Amino acid sequence: MKKINFYLVMKYLLSALFIITVSHQNISAQTQKLSAEQESARSIFKELIEINTTHSVGNTTMAANAMAKRFLDAGFDQKDIHVFGPQDRNQNMVIRFHGSGKAKPILFISHLDVVEARREDWSLDPFQLTERDGYFYGRGTLDIKDGAAILVANFLRLKKENFTPDRDLILALTAGEEGGSDYDGIEWLIANHRDLIDAEFCVNMDAGDPQIKNGKRINRTVQPSEKAVLDFSFEVKNRGGHSSLPVKNNSIYHLADGLAKLEQYNFPADLNEITRAYFGKMATIETGQLSADMKAVSENPNDSNAIYRLSTSPYYNALLRTTCVATRLEAGHAITALPQYAKALVNCRVMPGAKQIDIQNALIQMLADTQIVVTALDTMMSNPPSPLKPELMQKIESLTKKLWPGVVVMPVMQVGASDGLFLRGAGIPTYGISGVFINVDDNRAHGKDERIGVKDFYDGLEYEYYLIKMFSTAK
Ligand SMILES: [Zn+2]
Repeated sequence: MKKINFYLVMKYLLSALFIITVSHQNISAQTQKLSAEQESARSIFKELIEINTTHSVGNTTMAANAMAKRFLDAGFDQKDIHVFGPQDRNQNMVIRFHGSGKAKPILFISHLDVVEARREDWSLDPFQLTERDGYFYGRGTLDIKDGAAILVANFLRLKKENFTPDRDLILALTAGEEGGSDYDGIEWLIANHRDLIDAEFCVNMDAGDPQIKNGKRINRTVQPSEKAVLDFSFEVKNRGGHSSLPVKNNSIYHLADGLAKLEQYNFPADLNEITRAYFGKMATIETGQLSADMKAVSENPNDSNAIYRLSTSPYYNALLRTTCVATRLEAGHAITALPQYAKALVNCRVMPGAKQIDIQNALIQMLADTQIVVTALDTMMSNPPSPLKPELMQKIESLTKKLWPGVVVMPVMQVGASDGLFLRGAGIPTYGISGVFINVDDNRAHGKDERIGVKDFYDGLEYEYYLIKMFSTAK
């Protein structure tokens, strides 16, 4: 008789047990009874996902009205509920939860619009909320209808609990953030209804995500700052001529030489209080050389070796400095003609505090070619970082410790842009403090089969509930 290998038998039994445990977890996650608050949030989330709010065929007005109806049904006064905007199909919703007036209001924001999603590109219908294997799938599950649903659900819950905040709580759900629309909801509200959204500070669901890396919840980022956007054109004009008689002075060559210089050019590293704090905290999570380099730049922002090594990562590079990159190109008018015209568009992401004129001058100096005309295509918005007040950070620290022990709180500067840009420019300090963990190794925002973890959604619901309560209590 063949000798039984006990090791293999044990291994088999253990893996069988593992499979049973894992599938049991999946089943229990699906069938676990939801609390009334979770039920409510799920139904709001489902309603939002299933109203298409893309720019092409979607409609944020329908989503705004659906949420407004929930507030009206919950007993909010009609005069505190607004659905409005300059476009019939792309309106915004603002509601006010009255407090006792001991302090200035707080504004909470999330956008309602989503990026386009085509059914044929997806494995599932992007405009159905699908719960499968521990995830919620659908366009906007991650960006950022989860945040909108969480805010609506918690405002309704606080109303039901007869909670009286020490200050008014304002909720704005807006259109046009993803750029497809002709206007941005937050920008429009600031310009036209400042009184309705004016606040001591704002909490933005669309930034400052808690993060999962290698399957582990690692950090709770808080986003008080982001880079500004500034676009330039590089243009070369030339008298041209017949292509059978080439000359060295060619507009395409001038532009190409300039772009080759741009490729090699690095703006000087420009660390600030927030990025230094971020690298300092991340050093405690990372290991080896990366950890050492992060610690080094957090202590000495001029450590050029550490800066050099960190800059090989596109993300850390973007945190360390202003970046400019060529994104579009056009030139020439006929294949048989020397080009009279060549133009590139260059998109810059500028460190907070840097000046437009200094960026433009740096580019002109770098090009060192008077034939290339550098023109700013817009005026960069003022973008001061919002102060990281100790009492604000302490509240976030204590809540995070209570709900998510072991998760490190850290400030982060966003390298992209959010609606926080408009609000900070208008003098309303804004902090991205989303409650829903995102997986940095598999971030599907704007992409195919967008999803978030079911547990992460409900944990975020709970986190924001306590956050709203804590923030709304005056000291
Ligand atoms: Zn977003």
